[in-house]
Amino acid sequence: MSRFATVLVCLLAFAGLGQSLTPGWASTEPCADPHGSRGAEPYAPTSAQIAEMQADLEMRRRVRGAAGQVGADEFITVPLWIHLLGDGVRGATTQSALRQVEVLNAAYGGRLGGADTRVRFRLEGVNRVVNKVWFRDPLGNETAMKTALRKGGQDTLNLYIAQLSELVLGYATYPHWYARSPKLDGVVIDWRTLPGGALKNFDRGYTGVHEIGHWLGLLHTFENGCAEPGDHVADTPAAGQATEGCPARKDTCKTIPGDDPIHNFMDYSHDRCMTEFTTGQGVRMREMWQQYRVPAAEPLEISA
Ligand SMILES: [Zn+2]
Repeated sequence: MSRFATVLVCLLAFAGLGQSLTPGWASTEPCADPHGSRGAEPYAPTSAQIAEMQADLEMRRRVRGAAGQVGADEFITVPLWIHLLGDGVRGATTQSALRQVEVLNAAYGGRLGGADTRVRFRLEGVNRVVNKVWFRDPLGNETAMKTALRKGGQDTLNLYIAQLSELVLGYATYPHWYARSPKLDGVVIDWRTLPGGALKNFDRGYTGVHEIGHWLGLLHTFENGCAEPGDHVADTPAAGQATEGCPARKDTCKTIPGDDPIHNFMDYSHDRCMTEFTTGQGVRMREMWQQYRVPAAEPLEISA
């Protein structure tokens, strides 16, 4: 079969028009996956929104002082609710969702490489939901789905596992949005990105790791390209553009020390290429947690 024909069959299957996937995992799905890249992320912030995010963080630093900081050795534990959507035929198994949680704790604990971010996740429960409409178009039905399902307060990570598309693997809201849209707070990922999932190159659960990084306030390592302030984390080398695939090495900012951080979870590399967070990313996530997520942190009124 030609590559084009293979891709077409796969697209039909993904659209529900071709060969049906079996319930639960479809790891035997014969399709070559059409994904070459992570594609676009809905809600990816614009430069203006990133500037707003930083201004809000800096305002909080001024107002809260030491109360907004987390000790260098201190751990944070994120309560996690998983909403496992299905349409009655397709959808991830509870077992694969549990494996996703294991991957989160391994990645954030530095057990796959890189630094221990001192961020951990504690599963509160798995909420299985059969809803064809929400499963097949979580983005288009976002308000209804999240309003009905979201659990917990500002510290609770709600992870919705449904079906996105071949162009979108996942998306997240950012910490400072919580005060304005608490019901929409959370992360949505495609069920086929879970560990052992059907999306070739994106089947180790690192889409969840990446999107939750955004939920905890991380930006892409290629944010701002080679220009300062990059991703607002000092120990991630600058990158001029996102990484596709898994190159041996890449250096898009020749005048700045350091190769592109192609193994960082906040790049766009294939899952097999991703291994690490940095110490600085851990510090940023834990500060964001302290400023925006801990229940004791009353939302501050933001004045211009
Ligand atoms: Zn991203």
